[in-house]
This record gives sequence, C-alpha cells and structure tokens, in this order.
Amino acid sequence: MFTVWFTGLPASGKSTIAKRVEEALRRRGLDVENLDADEVRRNLHPKLGFSKEERGENNRRIAYLAKLLNKHDVVVIVAAVSPFEEHRRMARRIVEEAGRFFLVWVNCPVEVCKARDPKGLYERAERGEIPDFTGVSHPYEPPQRYELRLDTAKDDPRTCTEQVLAGLERAGLLQPAEAGTGREREGVALTPEEEEAIRERLRQLGYLD
Ligand code: ADP
Repeated sequence: MFTVWFTGLPASGKSTIAKRVEEALRRRGLDVENLDADEVRRNLHPKLGFSKEERGENNRRIAYLAKLLNKHDVVVIVAAVSPFEEHRRMARRIVEEAGRFFLVWVNCPVEVCKARDPKGLYERAERGEIPDFTGVSHPYEPPQRYELRLDTAKDDPRTCTEQVLAGLERAGLLQPAEAGTGREREGVALTPEEEEAIRERLRQLGYLD
C-alpha cells in the first residue's frame, strides 16, 4: 500500500486536489483514508502549536497513522503544509516501515496563494492575528526530494489530479485505468454526484442490484 503526501503553502491547493484524488482512487476500488492535517490536529491534539518542533510532532503523528493504515491495506492521502524538509524525510521513514511514500509538492507562488486566501488566513496573518503563519511569518522549505511537482497557478485542479494519478501509475502504485473506466484520461470525468445519479438511474432500470 502507499501514502500520497501533499505538501505546500496554505491555499496552494493541497486539500482540493487531495479530495479529488481520494474520490478517483475510491472509484478504482481502493480503500482510501484522507488525513487532513488540520482535522487531525483538531481531533487528536488541539493544544499542539505551530512552532517548528510542534509542526514536526504533528507530521510524526500523521505519518504514524498513515503507516498503520497502510499496514492494513488502506491507501492514505495526507494534506499537510509540512514546511520542513527534515520533517518530510521523517514522515517518509515512518511510512516506509509499512508502505510506499509518494510526496507531491503542490507548488504555487505565495502571491497567488494570498490572492486566493479561501479562508482569509493570509489576511489575518498579515494583520498579525496569526503568529507563525507559513508564507507570512514562518518559512516554507521547497522540497529537495519529491515524487511529483504540481504547479497549481498554471494547471487547474482537474489537470493536477490527472497528473497525480498518472504519477502513481508510473511509480507502479496504481494499475492504469481499464479501457472504458479511464474517465480521467478521456476528458469526460464525472463528479461523484453525477456518477451517483447515473448509478441510481441504472438501479431504477434494473441494470444494477
Ligand atoms: P490548501 O489545502 O493547500 O490550504 P485549499 O485546497 O484549501 O488549499 O484551497 C486552494 C484554493 O485554491 C481553493 O479555493 C481552490 O478552488 C483554488 N484553486 C485554484 N486553482 C487550483 C488548482 N489548480 N489546484 C487546487 N486548487 C486550486
């Protein structure tokens, strides 16, 4: 099994792409768990802060969870800023005790991230309301070692998702989509809602159990 770990600045697009990859892998019949770093923080250790050491600790705990899930044949998707090379290497070492580690660098210029700012966090950080905010008052170390780099200022989420799936196939982690089910490649990707609507109609017509 394997863990796909997305690293990048806040608002670079990690969660957006992680969600799409999660859905695509599920459509291919895999068991998938999406570990969003913010959610893991909120649920498991809400008091952990954002110093370099605490970010390392957050990454270590997520990697440990990923390892356990990989051991039980669950594919793991992680979306975590994980700004430090040393911590990403640690996460790799931990995951590799049970599975393969596929690091995706979600690259995007900080100006573009600031302009997107979907949660208004850059704005608050620039007003001094959030200390140690990556991209404003805390560093992001561009990865030296990674399996795939995405450029989300240039490529849209759908293209980025296709690039991840193709990268996983190239790495031998994922079987190429079978003819007829390779929707991502054929340019007619369906949303999960559209797919469910079609399934429902086929069910009504008696084509599905
Ligand atoms: P992160 O998880 O890295 O903090 P999010 O996925 O929460 O980032 O937010 C990224 C924002 O940027 C979303 O509003 C998304 O719609 C937008 N966006 C624009 N282009 C892209 C792209 N190519 N890939 C991913 N997100 C994009």
